[in-house]
Amino acid sequence: MNEHDSERYSGMFKQMGHIEVQRLKDADIVLFNTCCVRETAERKVLGNIGRLKHFRHEKPNLIIIIAGCMMQQPHVIDKIKKNLSFVNLILGTYNIHRFPQLLEKVLEKKNSKGPLVEVWDKPKSVVEGIPSIRKHKFKASVNIMYGCNNFCSYCIVPYTRGRERSRGKEAIIDEISSLVKEGVLEVTLLGQNVNSYGRDLYSDYDFSDLLSDVDKIDGIRRIRFMTSHPKDATEKIISTIKASENICENFHLPVQSGSNSILKKMNRHYTREQYLSFAKKLYEDIPEITLSTDIIIGFPEETESDFEDTLSLAKEAFFDSAYIFLYSKRTGTKAAESSHQIPEKVKHERFDRILLEMNKIAYEKNLKTIGSTEKVLVDGLSDKYPGNVYGRTRGNKIVTFKGDLSMVGTIVLVRILEAKRATLIGELC
Ligand code: SAH
Ligand code: SF4
Repeated sequence: MNEHDSERYSGMFKQMGHIEVQRLKDADIVLFNTCCVRETAERKVLGNIGRLKHFRHEKPNLIIIIAGCMMQQPHVIDKIKKNLSFVNLILGTYNIHRFPQLLEKVLEKKNSKGPLVEVWDKPKSVVEGIPSIRKHKFKASVNIMYGCNNFCSYCIVPYTRGRERSRGKEAIIDEISSLVKEGVLEVTLLGQNVNSYGRDLYSDYDFSDLLSDVDKIDGIRRIRFMTSHPKDATEKIISTIKASENICENFHLPVQSGSNSILKKMNRHYTREQYLSFAKKLYEDIPEITLSTDIIIGFPEETESDFEDTLSLAKEAFFDSAYIFLYSKRTGTKAAESSHQIPEKVKHERFDRILLEMNKIAYEKNLKTIGSTEKVLVDGLSDKYPGNVYGRTRGNKIVTFKGDLSMVGTIVLVRILEAKRATLIGELC
């Protein structure tokens, strides 16, 4: 979501006549688009901005802008005003479209003291038509909704991105149709909980219906979506994927924990059994499906036995891959108030154990692909293996194989020869 916001900032910069440079010393304007889902991301960005203070002496006219989720938290803005007062502009997540006007204002009054701050505490409406410079010509992310209503007890997103707002289906279809006309083969539909798409707009049109409509767009070759919430994952989605040629056989379904007691404390509204039963149905109905997940380790009150439940669920669900996160205390969330925070040492020890287990599971799963033929969308030249390219299978696995620049952005058939923990090695068929 944040990466796509950055593409929109690039688009607005370009529309205003600015150009992108590769080296900091050549820049007149620097924009930080921030994330605050975990504390490490926050610390990193504050460190990076702090480092610009010295650079400012060499380049007194440098404009520094901070945007994104972090700016939706008043205590962060206070901190920036106090410690990083050389920043010129602060804006939040709800007024991205105001960026050109705000930047103009800053450029007019370069020498005013302290940052210009414009952060809205809630969204006004879904704004369409913000230009984007996409990172790739052949694949693109498309927001289908903004915000989240779920208030998982660890998560800051509902506070920084507001309540769920779906984009109208026509706007989404139009955007994707234009992208496809420009040569895009793969789109990823984005939302914090795509399964609840449309609930705020329609009574009889849901995410599966949107998927089916996107599937009908002439020339589209691949459709992905993220993220799905297990509590809203339906059999209709499974049958929609199954019936479609273009929807990729990959489901990212964050489980967060395998313990029912922790899932309850996380406010996730599903049980381990419900999650596993959905996974089973997925595997039964779509044998080639790959399943990936997010897991949080060290949530307050997580016992050794809760943790073991997560370990065993990972084995049972037979995940293809998992993003594993150390629980990070986020000010303002319910879990942050718990007096039963898990000691760092215990969190790290459990993290290492689950990582080891996940690596084994992913490797075992990757081994099963050896000998298969996969359709791969080629992303680029491999840095690690000269003379090779890399790309992704429909199941979202990375494959490296012999190839050249002319293949980038095309879909090719690749036979899988070798499996590693996180990637596959193949040869062109
Ligand atoms: N809307 C998506 C995910 C958004 S955040 C969903 O519900 O699945 C992406 C991931 O970051 C989450 O799935 C979760 O695993 C992780 N995450 C969110 N808040 C966190 C926190 N406070 N500490 C550690 N990980 C967190
Ligand atoms: Fe955060 Fe939960 Fe919403 Fe995902 S569903 S963004 S984890 S509150």
